[in-house]
Amino acid sequence: MKYTIFSRKQDEISLGIVKQIKSLIKLEYDEENPDIVITVGGDGTILRAVNKYIDLVDKITFFGVKTGHLGFYTNFTVNDIVDLCEKINTNNFDCETHNLLRWESNLNSGYAINEITITNPTATQIVDVYIDENIFETVRGTGLCISTTNGSTAYNKSLNGPVVDHSLNCIILTEIASINSNAYRSLNSPLVLSTNRRLELKSNNAKFLTSDHLQFELDHDDYVKCYLSDKKIKFGKRCNTEFMDRIKKAFL
Ligand code: NAP
Ligand code: MN
Repeated sequence: MKYTIFSRKQDEISLGIVKQIKSLIKLEYDEENPDIVITVGGDGTILRAVNKYIDLVDKITFFGVKTGHLGFYTNFTVNDIVDLCEKINTNNFDCETHNLLRWESNLNSGYAINEITITNPTATQIVDVYIDENIFETVRGTGLCISTTNGSTAYNKSLNGPVVDHSLNCIILTEIASINSNAYRSLNSPLVLSTNRRLELKSNNAKFLTSDHLQFELDHDDYVKCYLSDKKIKFGKRCNTEFMDRIKKAFL
């Protein structure tokens, strides 16, 4: 077993945490081919770490250490570091897994943990939404967001999408500033779909596709296919990290 530490910030606190972890972990340090990735930072740091190691994601266990209060992917705080390192050294930890969202466009493809969006911030796009290869609706507006349950507390929540218990698996489709009038009509409610649904978005005028923190340009007549992949990410769990507590701490 080999491990690495992934940290975005170079401030004193983050460097101190990295140093402490390195002094406690007894495994070989290997940035290229790790079995364990310990992140230091927030949920955004996890997104970047997963993206960096996407080709190795099947064998990696991620452990997120958050410098502030707990995040949604960061199960550990600085107070847990000694305990966490002991767990890793003795290979004695519980895990939770989450399916990644797979997306494919004409030119690009990838995986998202939170969500993908297709948007045009300057002009209305007309997007035909296909579910399981059948046309479902046409949405006119800024765009659409396709989220996992993990992503339900992120961008999806800002779009008034439902906050979904992260232990569930589903796909959430929300509209971004859609026009609803006598001329144009779409569902205009968040739509929660089961895991095996396959979505396809065909836009006449899409500009950007975002996949978590990443942004790609789209051709005006691009299509985007999206579904829950069999590919999973694995997170090391801490005991007593109740989902409802996180929701309360984060939002209430
Ligand atoms: P960012 O703009 O720095 O982060 C946005 C915020 O979302 C941060 O506070 C981040 O937590 C938090 N976050 C990330 N994943 C989360 C999750 N699954 N549940 C609850 N909160 C979550 O960008 P970033 O850190 O690179 O994160 C990218 C994410 O930002 C995207 O995947 C998208 O969900 C979100 N986003 C939201 C909006 C919006 O709400 N209007 C717009 C664009 C993007 P940390 O501070 O711990 O990193
Ligand atoms: Mn962030």
